[in-house]
Amino acid sequence: MIAAMADRIIYLDHNATTPCDPRVVEAMLPFMTESYANSTTRNHRPGRDAASELERARTTVDRLLGGRAASEVVFTAGATEGNNLALMGAAEALVDRGRHIISQRTEHASVLAPLTVLAKRGWEITLVGVDETGRIDLNELGRELRDDTALVSLMLANNETGTVQPLSEAAELARSRGALIHCDAAQAIGKIPVDVGKLNVDLLTASAHKFYGPKGVGALWIRHRRPPIRLEPVIYGGGQEGGLRSGTPNVPGAVGMARAMEITVSEGDGERTRVAVLRDRLESSILESLDGSWRNGDVGNRLPNTTNLSIADIDVNALLASLPDLALNTGSACTSAHPEPSPVLRAMGVSDELAGSSLRLSLGRFTSESDVDHASARIVEEVTRLRDMPKRMGRGSHRR
Ligand SMILES: *Cc1c(COP(=O)(O)O)cnc(C)c1O
Repeated sequence: MIAAMADRIIYLDHNATTPCDPRVVEAMLPFMTESYANSTTRNHRPGRDAASELERARTTVDRLLGGRAASEVVFTAGATEGNNLALMGAAEALVDRGRHIISQRTEHASVLAPLTVLAKRGWEITLVGVDETGRIDLNELGRELRDDTALVSLMLANNETGTVQPLSEAAELARSRGALIHCDAAQAIGKIPVDVGKLNVDLLTASAHKFYGPKGVGALWIRHRRPPIRLEPVIYGGGQEGGLRSGTPNVPGAVGMARAMEITVSEGDGERTRVAVLRDRLESSILESLDGSWRNGDVGNRLPNTTNLSIADIDVNALLASLPDLALNTGSACTSAHPEPSPVLRAMGVSDELAGSSLRLSLGRFTSESDVDHASARIVEEVTRLRDMPKRMGRGSHRR
């Protein structure tokens, strides 16, 4: 048995969330203990100071996303809220154009669930399919676009497989038919360059805790020019955030998000290269050591930190239970309350059996070479042990 490293759990679940970078925590602290005033209050100096800090953070986030004006950024409580605001807000604002919305089958639940609600309220929803690598077919998207298509919503990168969609080409198609284009970029920011101008999108969702910022803060970027986009709010109250997101602004969160984005943009290239080398090392050592193991997703268009593997003849829950020294995931963390074969992998044509025995490994800023070597050795060791078990105990091979 390979010795567990002195009680330290190797964290390989960065697509579920990342640790806060200590530099981010440092930037946030003064806004909790010293400069804590409500930024909505203009009647005293601390309130005005908090407001100018919030605007500074907004300017940074807009600039680093490639925007043109700070007012394009609405701070939210994360990507789930940002996606809800984008979809529900655009649907309400665009009813005159039509009630048809296009998305695709491997979207995050925070896109698919609001679309289900809109379908109940009379919108027509088309979900385009994906190929075996998880990419949408642009020809199919082109065929589904109609004169009454109000909005197209596509994720930039998939949280389970890391597959990156052809967003700018899809945006071009949507635009040519007069539809707005929304992009859930929650999983992409910090892992690949993200620029609203190059992607050519109208709405873009971000979440700080996916790129070493704090949980509970994110942003929806909303194009203000050519054309200006108008949304209806989903949360009503005091009218903060340009009326689109009422509630006392989370100043420490916004400051942390801006700092996390600065670090990610300035250190991103080096980090991406380093992480991709480690990911490839982890992936190939598992694939080479285990018969009946496959990679899911697109190799050419994929996040540098993610690998998704299916391992035949294994009960993944038994495997996870036998690997207490590793923090791994099967499928998406957000849906693991309902264990069933990953809908993302099934949409890619992976069989129920193999979709139900998939491992998602996602590396990050603080992952080391010894972490990945330990992880691959332990995974291979436990898979081999579990596969041998039924034989030794005289039972049939794995059943489900
Ligand atoms: C994590 C994630 C979300 C949800 O983000 P929260 O900030 O946790 O609400 C949405 N979309 C994708 C693609 C994600 O990876």
